[in-house]
Order: sequence, then C-alpha cells, then structure tokens
Amino acid sequence: MRDFLYRIRAGEIIVADGAMGTMCFEAGLRVGDCPELLNIENPQLIEDITRSYLEAGSQIVQTNTFGGTALKLAPYGLQKRSAEINEAAVKIARRAAGDRAYISGSCGPSGKILQPYGDTEPEIIYASFREQINALIEAGADIITVETMVDLEEAKLAIKAARQISSTIPVMAAMTFDSTPNGFFTIMGISIEDAAVGLKEAGADIIGSNCGNGIRDMVMIASGFRQATDMPLIIQSNAGLPKVENGKTVYTETPEMMAEHAKDLMVLPVSVIGGCCGTTPEHIRALRKMVDSWAA
Ligand SMILES: [Zn+2]
Repeated sequence: MRDFLYRIRAGEIIVADGAMGTMCFEAGLRVGDCPELLNIENPQLIEDITRSYLEAGSQIVQTNTFGGTALKLAPYGLQKRSAEINEAAVKIARRAAGDRAYISGSCGPSGKILQPYGDTEPEIIYASFREQINALIEAGADIITVETMVDLEEAKLAIKAARQISSTIPVMAAMTFDSTPNGFFTIMGISIEDAAVGLKEAGADIIGSNCGNGIRDMVMIASGFRQATDMPLIIQSNAGLPKVENGKTVYTETPEMMAEHAKDLMVLPVSVIGGCCGTTPEHIRALRKMVDSWAA
C-alpha cells in the first residue's frame, strides 16, 4: 500500500466505510450493551461487517473502538480492558482487510465533560485517550480517527495523545455539527472556523465532520471547512437524520441520493468520503461507483 497521506496530497479521493454501530444493532446488539465488547465476545460479527464494507469498495475500514477509552467503558465495568479491547479490534480489522485497505483506529468522545463546563480534568481524559490510542497503534492501526467530537478541547486532547505516541501516523479528526439559524455549530458552540483552526493546531492531518447530518447539510459543512482551510478534508455523513418508526430507528437517505450529492464533495475537494450512522455497504458501494466514475 502506498503512503496514505501521499495519496491524499496527490489529489486522490479515498472511500472510507459506513456505520459499524447500525450494523451491530441490526445483528442483535441491544441498547445498553457495550458495542466494543463484541470485539472479544463476537469477533466474527465484527469481521463480517468489516468484510462487507471491503467488498463494497472501502479503502479505509474503521475498528470497532468508538467507545474504547477506559472512561467510556467504565459504565460497563470494562475500564480495565481498554487495551485488550482495542488490540482485539485492530486484529479483527486486519484479518478482514489484510493489506488491501487501511485500518483506521476509531476514537470517539470519552463521555465525560471537561472543566469548566463539567467536572473532569483534562489530564484524566488525555490519559484515557492515550491508553486507547497506544493500544490501537501498537496493534498495527495505520491511521487514527478522532471522531464525533463536539468539544474542541476534548478533540485536541485526543489528537495530541496520538501525536505524542507517534509523530508520523496519519491523524484524521472530525467533529459533529448541528444546523442553527446562525450557521453550523457543535452542541458545545464550536463553529466550523474554530474547529478548522483548533484541529490543525493540535496536529491533525485531515479534518472535517462526521455524524449528526444527512448528506445535504454535510455538503454545506464541507464547504464551510473548505472556506476556512486548505487542509485535506474528511466527511462521513449519516443516511439522513434518524426517525423512529414502529419503535425502530430508521435512516431514510438512499445510497443513490448519498452518491449523487457526493459529487458536490468531490468538487471541493473532500479527500476522504464515507458514511456514518445509518449507512450500509450499499451506500458505500454507490459512493465507490461515483468516485470511480469521477476519477475516470
Ligand atoms: Zn454517526
């Protein structure tokens, strides 16, 4: 595999994968279960989901470690097993992908609120990210992806932890924005411009947004990032906003719709395009087709 950042800088558009959580719930994971424990208790399920994305054309597959910090695992009594769980997740992804795709170590929010808004000290959150990211890198992750962040300070702690462990591993960082009458902001009030500056300063190589929005709003968010920075961008859109139908959460944006709007991302350009909640291998297959026809 050629160097990931080299390819990005040369202008290649890389297709990532889609939702992991949505697929786990489809397969029977219940609300209240720990999704990351599946890496230990049902590795075959995670491997099968990863394979389905590879077959759809993903060039990056993410580990099932979104909630893999000790802080996030603590409510399940699993806080001592962060390293073990993260290591297992990388091995599963590698077993599925071999060297035909990059393994991205997923690193989501700690679930704690930093001072001064909450009561958690930055050192505690940093240490938790550090433990997780160290396990991901030791086990062979090619990329670290800090994602679904709403607090810029927390995102920066995760990026700095990754940078401290490895000065060379590519780090992608994505925040989640809401549409407001005054533009897009995270729940914690972070604007796209603030995010662009802060994520870069902390040491990320590729920045952008995932989750929280369907593809139309994601195109607007991506344009905002493009105006704010010349850094390579990542966008992983939800398949629309979740709706509850018959007690079940459903996402309604079709693969065709996502792929059609992905053209607007490629124009900017956005370098890494994938899906978040509600997206399936079918969404990725459609994106793959669109990216390939664009490049041709
Ligand atoms: Zn999501």
